[in-house]
Amino acid sequence: MLVERLGSPDVMELRDLPLPEPGPGQIRVKVEAVGINFADVLAVAGEYLTRTRVPYTPGMEFAGIVDALGEGVSGVQPGVRVACLGGTGALAEYAVVPAAGLIPVPESFSAAQAAAFPVSYFTAYHGLKTLGAAQPGQWVLVQAAAGALGTASIQLAKAMDLNVIAMASTEEKLELARNLGADVTLLQDDPDRVQKVMEASGGRGVPLVLEVVGGKRFQESLKMTAPRGRVIVIGNASREPAHLQPGELMKRNLTVTGLWLTSLMSDQEATREAAQELTRLVGSGRVTPQVGPTYALADSARAFQDLMDRKTTGKVIIEPQN
Ligand code: NDP
Repeated sequence: MLVERLGSPDVMELRDLPLPEPGPGQIRVKVEAVGINFADVLAVAGEYLTRTRVPYTPGMEFAGIVDALGEGVSGVQPGVRVACLGGTGALAEYAVVPAAGLIPVPESFSAAQAAAFPVSYFTAYHGLKTLGAAQPGQWVLVQAAAGALGTASIQLAKAMDLNVIAMASTEEKLELARNLGADVTLLQDDPDRVQKVMEASGGRGVPLVLEVVGGKRFQESLKMTAPRGRVIVIGNASREPAHLQPGELMKRNLTVTGLWLTSLMSDQEATREAAQELTRLVGSGRVTPQVGPTYALADSARAFQDLMDRKTTGKVIIEPQN
């Protein structure tokens, strides 16, 4: 899939390109499954946090089979399933990645589960724990709760013994959130949502909000936050600007913290701690990546559009070998 100009998902075009050769320190992976993130949609539109340079092939998170090793690469065998995170180029039958960027895949995971895991679960962990400092028994508000990050956040929050208020746009999405263990579910457009969040959390508001919608909803998130609570700003799915009144933070001693997984990944201590804890939870069976709708490579634009149109739940997957 090649993007030569930025725009809506249909700027992606299927092209035949030569098989890429791995350079020194690189490996070639036969791509089995690509996890599609909201960030991919934004990058193709030219609205992501970093500038998108064209031409390029989207796809930052994927799983596949090691196919060829570049010069100097050791410690990994062809034929083994690996996952990769970061960079671009996964929406292709073969991708070349730095060997240092490989993530081992638990034996219990399918390729689609492995591709659904890294971005959503590391982000959810950092939101809840590294930056959110959540304590067992506390309430957390999860927006877009049936999405890739939302489902990961509910699962991790329950595994951390938190109480979850889940918000999403449809009853079907709320049903999925309840099945994953959400304690209270609310429609995103429920006119009484602020009051209902206050009531559910004993009148004080929630100590932790994972904020992914932005725009006017950001101000609402502040209203729903308990005194001394934290709002972790993870996304801006509404793509609308949000306004912040410093006085509102001061009055109730609130903290607003931004989270970007890409920059947190360079914090080795935080990444190691998250990886250890996530490995333990996967091993215990308490955490299973939620694979959503699956598309063929030729249908990538439709996959992106469905994600943008809020039609999907779990992680959208594209399978380039199909
Ligand atoms: P999701 O699978 O959650 O899909 C996006 C969801 O956002 C939709 O299903 C929809 O759920 C919700 N949404 C709310 N308002 C809108 C809107 N106006 N337009 C479109 N969707 C809307 O995607 P991801 O898990 O990939 O991402 C979720 C959010 O988290 C995004 O904002 C993303 O940018 C962010 N994110 C940030 C990361 C970081 O490092 N900072 C890492 C990972 C994700 P509903 O219909 O229920 O409202």
